[in-house]
Amino acid sequence: MPHVITQSCCSDGSCVYACPVNCIHPSPDEPGFATAEMLYIDPDACVDCGACVSACPVGAIAPDTRLEPRQLPFVEINAAFYPKREGKLPPTSKLAPVIEAPKITRDGPLTVAIVGSGPAAMYAADELLTQRGVRVNVFEKLPTPYGLVRAGVAPDHQSTKRVTELFDRMAAQRGFTFYLNVEVGKHLTHADLLGHHHAVVYAVGAPNDRRLDIEGMDLPGTATATEVVAWINGHPDHTDLPVRLDHERVVIVGNGNVALDVARVLTSDPDALARTDISDHALAALRSSAVQEVVIAARRGPAASAFTLPELIGLTSTCDVVLDSADHDLVLRDLAQETDPLTRNKLEILAKLGDASAPITRPRIRFAYQLTPRRVLGENQVTAVEFGVTGTDEVRTLDAGLLLTSIGYRGKAIADLPFDEDASVVPNDGGRVIDPATGAPVPGAYVAGWIKRGPTGFIGTNKSCAAQTVHHLVDDYNAGALTDPPRKPSALDKLVRARQPDVVDAAGWRAIDAAEIARGGDDRPRDKFTTVPEMLAVAVTAPKPSVRQRLTAGLLG
Ligand code: NAP
Repeated sequence: MPHVITQSCCSDGSCVYACPVNCIHPSPDEPGFATAEMLYIDPDACVDCGACVSACPVGAIAPDTRLEPRQLPFVEINAAFYPKREGKLPPTSKLAPVIEAPKITRDGPLTVAIVGSGPAAMYAADELLTQRGVRVNVFEKLPTPYGLVRAGVAPDHQSTKRVTELFDRMAAQRGFTFYLNVEVGKHLTHADLLGHHHAVVYAVGAPNDRRLDIEGMDLPGTATATEVVAWINGHPDHTDLPVRLDHERVVIVGNGNVALDVARVLTSDPDALARTDISDHALAALRSSAVQEVVIAARRGPAASAFTLPELIGLTSTCDVVLDSADHDLVLRDLAQETDPLTRNKLEILAKLGDASAPITRPRIRFAYQLTPRRVLGENQVTAVEFGVTGTDEVRTLDAGLLLTSIGYRGKAIADLPFDEDASVVPNDGGRVIDPATGAPVPGAYVAGWIKRGPTGFIGTNKSCAAQTVHHLVDDYNAGALTDPPRKPSALDKLVRARQPDVVDAAGWRAIDAAEIARGGDDRPRDKFTTVPEMLAVAVTAPKPSVRQRLTAGLLG
């Protein structure tokens, strides 16, 4: 009865280190780890102890006898990662080689500011706090933490959102302080942060979308899929996004996992979504939606699909997904030539999809291939999207009332730091910010997550990414390359409160969290507040820390 890793695998590798027989791969020290779509349990080596189940932060692992029907394909997917072996297994090391925590060899408390509170920020804080006496202050512009886990993970992926329980435990550690509702660049500058910390780690993600530069993109009825995900998730900046669902068809350009998330939500039964933490405004719009078909249009062929295999399996097991006959032919063409087992797996699933000529019985998703967007048509609003058939002169037009582009995220320049416009990242060497003019590190400045490596990977990918940054930061601290901050920790608290009287602390966040969970009642995990004033009204009801707690936290000087 081996255990099996399923769709919501976050790839943070916690299971790898919990496993007593090193049967989960690729492990973080192995070459394929950074690009793997998920991790896999070797069914022949698994001793069925369940240690990985307890270690997994997103509930992705179960014994093969307790899988839901939609999870059954993952039995074969886990097994297929390993070569077929006869007889006794070759000996392996008993444990995966643990990557050593960074060791501080200097006296005095290292103090670090982290900007952002998404996965990369939280993993960086946790890595720093493995060392005694370290103080980490996390600055987040919203009153609520955890970045894309709260505002980017689709509401029907509640298992993935469970990683916030791990983040809550990280935030509860001694030495960790939240400064929420504080925007670096508006309330505080980089120089302000360096006045109170040895170093600043920017883990601000990639907040912008890549824009599709074609005629008609300014028409009402165009938006980006990531804006729609934020609207669905109740992000306060996107509550008023006009999402037109009054036409029977929506077209999404790009076929990565974000496109799949949006298509799934737009075609799901609203009664099922009503049991998630979807925003009330999105649920109301979906209840009166006229959408019958979401077309996910890719400019290349099926073998080049950007979505991952686990997400394709999740999609096809919950939604009606179809292909038209020309696209079926493309799938068969690619399948005849493809040798990569992972891609073959995707193509085999695509080959079994129903035909688009069948009558629509419930809202469905259609994958379409070889379509390069040319222009958006319509007088005062979108009525259709014109594509060129890639590599030919043929033109194809799809009627639609809403065009969403889902062609990737883009990092945004950070005040006082260099920026690489082409790659949309802060230039860095393993997380140390590099001045492109001199090639030298910018003292005290570091990056982690998407602003460091670009918008790729999963929640857990940020763990090893953040660990690399923290190792370099600690090396620099040990080498005396980081200047001791001139001001006392207590002065930071005063400065923040002077610049942003509405700062929200950990107690404020816990009050918001508890109120949202209570509002959700018995049927929903939570009912989110979607405006900052609502959040602040709840945060101020939180008990204030006692003098003793403030003294312990070093906030009084
Ligand atoms: P993505 O995976 O990079 O996909 C981008 C898509 O946009 C590709 O299909 C790409 O096609 C297309 N594209 C780019 N430029 C285009 C253009 N000018 N015209 C037409 N198409 C264009 O991006 P994403 O979906 O935003 O995902 C970002 C990251 O988050 C990924 O690593 C993803 O796996 C991760 N994510 C994971 C989950 C999950 O695990 N559940 C959920 C959401 C996001 P080409 O390939 O032809 O360039």
